[in-house]
Amino acid sequence: MATVAFIGLGNMGGPMAKNLIAANHQVTVFDLVPQACAELESAGAAVASSTKEAVAGAQYVVSMLPAGKHVAGVYLGEDGLLAHLNSSVTVLDCSTIDAATSREVGQAAAAAGIGFMDAPVSGGVAAAAAGTLAFMCGGDADTFEKAKLVLTGMGKNIFHAGPHGAGQVAKGCNNMLLAIHMLGTCEALEMGARNGLDPAVLSEIMLASSGRNWSLEVYNPYPGVMETAPASNDYKPGFMVDLMVKDLGLAMAIADDSDVDNAMGKLAQAIYEKHQSQGNGQRDFSSVLEHLKN
Ligand code: NAD
Repeated sequence: MATVAFIGLGNMGGPMAKNLIAANHQVTVFDLVPQACAELESAGAAVASSTKEAVAGAQYVVSMLPAGKHVAGVYLGEDGLLAHLNSSVTVLDCSTIDAATSREVGQAAAAAGIGFMDAPVSGGVAAAAAGTLAFMCGGDADTFEKAKLVLTGMGKNIFHAGPHGAGQVAKGCNNMLLAIHMLGTCEALEMGARNGLDPAVLSEIMLASSGRNWSLEVYNPYPGVMETAPASNDYKPGFMVDLMVKDLGLAMAIADDSDVDNAMGKLAQAIYEKHQSQGNGQRDFSSVLEHLKN
């Protein structure tokens, strides 16, 4: 197994690092929050007092950080990790960040001879804890092959999307589509309900027809239709509106940079932002049904 430095032990990184320990990797962790490190120490990790100390002797570095500025801060510049890592190290950034920063860090790593992949995930905290995340990777084929040893300890489906930044683009495409088909599903169910249809019956009909989609299959937004969905549990997340708004912002930046006319994505972004501004940021994103109802 491998020696892994894990940086960023929040809601996602904490359980991901625990799964690497369970997969028999030797894990050294660092987070700015001492309590997060202490929790991993009890799970069997060594705790470092800085990012540089964490990566000493590591074969792999995995990071799970909030946004592009944190990732750039950790890796770039004279004081960043890329200036200190040995070229045999493989670096996997699993954070969801802007594709431009992933490309910038990937290019800086390549210039230093270091294998780097952006490897953002699909699946939330529950999938992180269960070790069933999907990884969408951007980088070269050699680094992808090396990355599998570590990624298989944290996830089930591991995809090579393309070169540096491609993982972030794949994630942006997927989450923009998720935002749109959830809204479409909400609109269809609400229209049916207002015309006297039982949303459960309408869901069955659409599941057996061409409207079938993931929101209907596993995440029905109408309360009471699907016992396991956040809608039937007062829209407790799940996947928060705040995170959907963050991901839509990243998707819109990708669209703007590549001159794509994504009218549906922009409309979805406006609707989720309005819903967020009405105090729903911490609720599950399928609560956007209530926005349509009101
Ligand atoms: P979080 O805010 O819970 O955790 C981020 C952690 O990074 C914090 O513990 C913070 O202290 C640490 N950190 C920040 N800067 C640091 C630095 N310089 N050095 C060391 N540690 C540092 O966030 P999260 O929910 O774990 O999400 C992490 C990433 O995963 C984000 O990019 C998010 O968009 C993405 N993501 C989250 C979910 C989800 O459901 N929460 C799902 C998919 C993807």
